[in-house]
Amino acid sequence: MDYEVVIGLEIHAQLKTNTKIFCGCSTAFGAEPNSQTCPVCTGMPGVLPVLNRTAVAYAARAGVATDCTLNRTNRFARKNYFYPDLPLGYQITQMALPIAEHGHLDIELSDGSTKRIGITRIHMENDAGKLNHDPMRPVSLVNLNRAGIPLIEIVTEPDMRSAQEAGALVRKMHQLVRHIGVCDGNMEEGSLRCDANVSLRPKGQEAFGTRTEMKNLNSFRNIERAIRYEVVRQADILDNGGTIIQESRLWNADKEISTSMRTKEDAHDYRYFPDPDLLPVVIDDAWFDEIVQSIPELPDAMKTRYMASLGLSQADAEVLTATIELATYFEICLAALTGKGPKQAKLVANWVMGSVLALVHTEGMALADVPVTAEMLAGLLALVEADVISGTMAKTVFEEMAKSGKAAQVIVAEKGLAQVSDTSEIEGIVDQILADNPNEVDAFRGGKTKLMGFFVGRVMKATKGKGNPKVVNQLLNEKLKG
Ligand SMILES: [Zn+2]
Repeated sequence: MDYEVVIGLEIHAQLKTNTKIFCGCSTAFGAEPNSQTCPVCTGMPGVLPVLNRTAVAYAARAGVATDCTLNRTNRFARKNYFYPDLPLGYQITQMALPIAEHGHLDIELSDGSTKRIGITRIHMENDAGKLNHDPMRPVSLVNLNRAGIPLIEIVTEPDMRSAQEAGALVRKMHQLVRHIGVCDGNMEEGSLRCDANVSLRPKGQEAFGTRTEMKNLNSFRNIERAIRYEVVRQADILDNGGTIIQESRLWNADKEISTSMRTKEDAHDYRYFPDPDLLPVVIDDAWFDEIVQSIPELPDAMKTRYMASLGLSQADAEVLTATIELATYFEICLAALTGKGPKQAKLVANWVMGSVLALVHTEGMALADVPVTAEMLAGLLALVEADVISGTMAKTVFEEMAKSGKAAQVIVAEKGLAQVSDTSEIEGIVDQILADNPNEVDAFRGGKTKLMGFFVGRVMKATKGKGNPKVVNQLLNEKLKG
């Protein structure tokens, strides 16, 4: 049977606040177990939650950036369930009135077209703690450092039709939440993870099939692999006349299989009700304006601008806008040049994507740790633009900058690398080269114009690479043809 795959995602993004959502405990990753806890986030009796304003602002920012409608009055609800990592006995989340609804995000497909994926809703909630299962003893230890960390859950419409589309959506969302500064996107630390709802239906059928939920997928690779596995598993069952059981499944990344976790609860099993300890959240006009103002130019708009007004190719624009850090690096360099047109944009793009990203990739360092800062590269490119050094010489200076951390101007001055543009000085050298090579001169004048490279090479060698190539070429042209 030919099936159509239907995928909806629930993406959990940890908000990048310094403190937890309902108390003042730190959210820093990797601390000693239970060292970042207090009576509120450990669910002691009689405590009251106090909402973190920044968490609300970040959630709202994510809503605006995905074209959602903000519910200017929204509220928290209790989702009741028992688990040892949840001492309160309920999760504080949003149900009937989430902070944002009815948005969308566009993904790029492999054929270059885009597809719009609906965002059903974005709601705020607190994270649970973590159970550490001791491999040596039959015990599990509870670490509540993560309990109370603010999350947003982004729920999409079931608009994706392949593992690849689901992967593209998560990548795009990852880029976006990092870009707008609400989540660090560190998937290894669990800052962004996702559940995938997968179902199959015979091609042409309108009604959805029974879905299963793949829980806690924490890398792009796992998301795509787990979905592919699930599609094959469900198709096998259906082809053999079986029925799909609605359930949660756990992906085992090592074995590359999924196993049943529990049969899936329906929403009414959680007995949601409005949290009586928390007032409705009201976003007034002034705060709303502040939230809208805090959103930088979004990645898609940035990419379009790089192509339309800076004349960059789609491939270049995509690389440069992949992270806001790289885009900012690029823009600082371009802003430092006198010209700001396509020629300068391409010069900067080549340097950023070439030398700078080479350092990132070969040294495995973060862009922020690259010893040549945007300001330093800007200084170097300004020297290239002003013809103080040649592009070739600039490569040498860049390497030196990466090693010593010195500014380009300092290196050029110390090593005497400034190129010679003084016509009379170069003219003397050109005359000498022509006098030393009469046979080549005759051959050139006889039509072997390819020898130009030979002459340029000789002159550049005599100037130790410092002759301004433009002046050298111009003088050689004049003298050889004259
Ligand atoms: Zn706390």
